[in-house]
Amino acid sequence: MTLFTDLGLADPLLKALEAEGYTTPTPIQEQSIPHLLQGRDLLGLAQTGTGKTASFALPILHRLDEIKQRAMPKSARVLVLTPTRELAVQVGQSFRTYGSHYRLRHALVFGGVGMVPQIKTMAGGVDVLVATPGRLLDLMSQGAIRLDSVEVLVLDEADRMLDMGFILPIRKIVAAMPKSRQTVLFSATMPDSIVGLANSVLHQPVRVEVTPPSTTVERIEQKVMFVDRENKRTLLTEMFACKSVERALVFTRTKHGANRVAELLEKAGIPADAIHGNKSQGARQKALADFKDGRIRALVATDIAARGIDVDGITHVVNFELPNEPESYVHRIGRTARAGASGIALSLCDADEVGYLRDIEKTIRQAVPVDYEHAYHAPHIASRGAGGKPKPQARHVQQQARPQQGRGNNPHGEHAHGGKARDGGKPAHAAGRPAQKSQTRSGQSGFKGMPGGASRAARG
Ligand code: AMP
Repeated sequence: MTLFTDLGLADPLLKALEAEGYTTPTPIQEQSIPHLLQGRDLLGLAQTGTGKTASFALPILHRLDEIKQRAMPKSARVLVLTPTRELAVQVGQSFRTYGSHYRLRHALVFGGVGMVPQIKTMAGGVDVLVATPGRLLDLMSQGAIRLDSVEVLVLDEADRMLDMGFILPIRKIVAAMPKSRQTVLFSATMPDSIVGLANSVLHQPVRVEVTPPSTTVERIEQKVMFVDRENKRTLLTEMFACKSVERALVFTRTKHGANRVAELLEKAGIPADAIHGNKSQGARQKALADFKDGRIRALVATDIAARGIDVDGITHVVNFELPNEPESYVHRIGRTARAGASGIALSLCDADEVGYLRDIEKTIRQAVPVDYEHAYHAPHIASRGAGGKPKPQARHVQQQARPQQGRGNNPHGEHAHGGKARDGGKPAHAAGRPAQKSQTRSGQSGFKGMPGGASRAARG
C-alpha cells in the first residue's frame, strides 16, 4: 500500500496531511502526484469526491516552494479555474489547508461580490489565484490582473465550465498566459469538446483516470420510485417523516423548482433552503453553512450550484427530478458517499423521466432497484421501470391501484424502453388519467420502504 510519505512530498505538506488525518493517497492522488511533481502536464478523468483537489494542490504547493520566486504584482504563480464560486471557495480552502505550513498568498476571484477587495488582494501579486472565468476576464480587461507570469494553470471540472458556456473566456485567459507553463486539466467526462480543449492547452500530458462511475456508485444504496408528477411533492414530504433522513440534498432541474421545493418543505415544517445561481453569494454561503451545521435538514439544489458542495454526513440524496444528463446523476448521488462513506440515493421518476432513467442505467452500468413498496404511487410507470417487473405481491399495488392494473402491469407495453417519454411524448396510458392520490394515511404514514433501516424508524 502506498502512503503519502512514499510520494516524495515535502515535510510541510506531510505535516498538513497528518493534521487532516490523511495517510493514504486516493487512487487519483497516487497516480497524479508523481507526474505533477516532475512538472508534467496532466489530463485527469475524475469526479468530485475522488480526492482530485489534493491530487493537484499538493504537488503544486511542493513545486511552488521548491522553485522559490515572488509573484509579480497583479499576477499569480498558480491559476486554478473553476466553474462555480462554491468550488472556487473549496479549492481555495484546500490550498490553505495543505499549505498551512507555508507562507502562502492566495486570492479568490469570482462574481456576485464586490470587485474592489479582489483588486486590492491581487495588487501585490499572489502565489495561488482561484477564479471563475467570467470575473477573472473582467478584472483582466480592467488591467487589475495580468497572467503573463503564471507558472501553473489548472482547469478544474473542465466539462462543467464548457457546459456553462465558458469556452471563449477560457480561450482568452489561456491566450494571456506564457506558453511555457505546467497545465493540468480535470474533467469528470471526456466529450469531444474536452478532448479539443485538452489538445490545445496541454503539452504531451500524462493521462490518469480513476475507476469509472459505476464502481464509485456501488457504495451507494439506490432506489427509484415511480410516481406521477403531481404526487412528487407529497412523496417528498413523506420521506422526511423518517428520522433517518437527517441531512438530505434534494435536486431539481431548475432554479425555480429549487425555490418551490424548499418552500414546500418549509411549509411542511422541515427546515430547508435552496441554493442556485440566482441567489446572492451571501445567501448561498449561508444556506451551505446552515446545511453543514445541521440548522436545515434539506438543501435543495440545481446541478450547477451543487458542483463542489463538499458536506460530510449527507445521509440522503433525493432526485426530486431526474437529470437529463446521466453524468449529473453520478455527480449528484456521489454527494452522499464522500471519502469512503456509504449513502442512500432516492430518485422520483415520473412518466416523462423514464427515458432519463434508462440513460442513467446505461451510464452506471447497473439497474437502479425499484422501490416496490411505493410503486402504488404510480404502478403504471413502475411497470415500465428499469429494475425489473413489479412484484405482484406488492401490497399497495394490489389493493390500491386496481384501475390501472390491466395496462400498468404489461411489461411489454409500448413504452417499455422509455424512449418516447424522453422525446416529450406523454405515454398514452399516462396522459389524461386523473391524478392518483397519494395513498398514505395517518397511521400507516411515514416512509416505509426506505433503504438503510428507514422503515423501522418510520414505523417506530
Ligand atoms: P475532492 O474530490 O477533491 O472534492 O475530495 C473529496 C473529499 O475527500 C474532500 O473532503 C477531501 O478533504 C477528502 N480527501 C482528499 N484526499 C483524501 C485522502 N487521501 N484521504 C481521505 N480523505 C481525503
